[in-house]
Amino acid sequence: MADPHAQGPAGGSALPHSRTSALPHSAPGVVLPGATLGIVGGGQLGRMFALEARRMGYRVLVLDPGRASPAAQVADEHLEAPFDDPAAMRALAERSDVVTLEWENADVATLREIERIVPVRPGPGVLEVAQHRVREKETARALGILTADFRAVSTRAELRDALAEIGTPAVLKTARFGYDGKGQAVIRDAAEADAAFDTVGGGDAELILEAWVKFSAEVSVVCARTARGETACFPVAENVHRDAILDVSIVPARVPPAVADEARRVAEAMAAGLEVVGLLAVEMFVGEDGHVRMNEIAPRPHNSGHYTLEACPVSQFEQQLRAVCGLPLGSTELLRPAAMVNLMGDDAGTALGRPGVADALAVPTTALHLYGKAEARPGRKMGHLTALGETPDQALERALRARARLVGGTG
Ligand code: AMP
Repeated sequence: MADPHAQGPAGGSALPHSRTSALPHSAPGVVLPGATLGIVGGGQLGRMFALEARRMGYRVLVLDPGRASPAAQVADEHLEAPFDDPAAMRALAERSDVVTLEWENADVATLREIERIVPVRPGPGVLEVAQHRVREKETARALGILTADFRAVSTRAELRDALAEIGTPAVLKTARFGYDGKGQAVIRDAAEADAAFDTVGGGDAELILEAWVKFSAEVSVVCARTARGETACFPVAENVHRDAILDVSIVPARVPPAVADEARRVAEAMAAGLEVVGLLAVEMFVGEDGHVRMNEIAPRPHNSGHYTLEACPVSQFEQQLRAVCGLPLGSTELLRPAAMVNLMGDDAGTALGRPGVADALAVPTTALHLYGKAEARPGRKMGHLTALGETPDQALERALRARARLVGGTG
């Protein structure tokens, strides 16, 4: 069905645009405004990246299979093709001055191919780790970073052995292509092992069994790193999940300063250890023992970093651009405490035309972001709200009040 809210790519031109390597570069490897930034993935992260990039005078070329994907709606041009289409990836490379991504499950082998044509930032080696939960945790351990106890598992017998070693409760996850709690099963008792194995599609997929971490909080840090090795971490976000999907981020995280320092050190060490050029988002548990355990990494902007659009001088999206273009990193100072709440398809619908939107925006400091998705589905992120405050608690109260108004009408 035609999407009534969809717009063609801004500019709408189907003219092939070649890269702008002839533009003056102030230093080797610096990509300046006027250049074309290629982005793999057309979701909301790409949309917010594209909006920032266009504000700064860059052209944006999006590769995504969806016709009216959130990023394609605001990009200069859209290559409508699957991510594993080598010809489309090559076209992206040939027409871009640098390629970055907002979706980490791109095909690593294809990225290695196009790396011969154009800088790919972060590089395929980072993706290779970020696409695999076992490799992520092995990398962390090798860098001296704590993680949950874990075992790689691929058969029922291996699962039984791993459970005997790790104990219960534990969580079985697919090693690849898991996000937002998909491909996960909690095992409370060894008798549940077989059912969990079936739930996550064991037999065909590589799995990881993790000890259940007793955490007092979940936190994340978005860290930027340049090719010259400079790093800059945004303030630590405290995250609350609903059904394993991020629901709320509160910044600064309400954790002791030593815990926040440790979280930033972990993110920086992971970014440096993986030689990331771009962004690395690191999700962590704050254990009841007060120590930080790395859970997951994503080599791109992160949902828990959306607050930076309103609360920091430079957003995570501009920072991604600066890092991949070889520009100086921007300030990551937190100007004011902030809270971000997601708007999910389940409760907000598309949010378009909802009278509650006006009520939500009456809450002081509230900013609305909608991603241009025409169809609302349960578990689908449709947009988010950010509110600022004198304290994290005040920001949180405002953000939650704004969402309740948006979802329920006046309130
Ligand atoms: P993930 O896809 O690994 O980010 O998991 C989604 C959410 O499930 C996390 O944010 C936690 O709330 C929960 N979770 C995942 N793994 C564990 C674990 N090993 N211990 C405790 N909670 C977990």
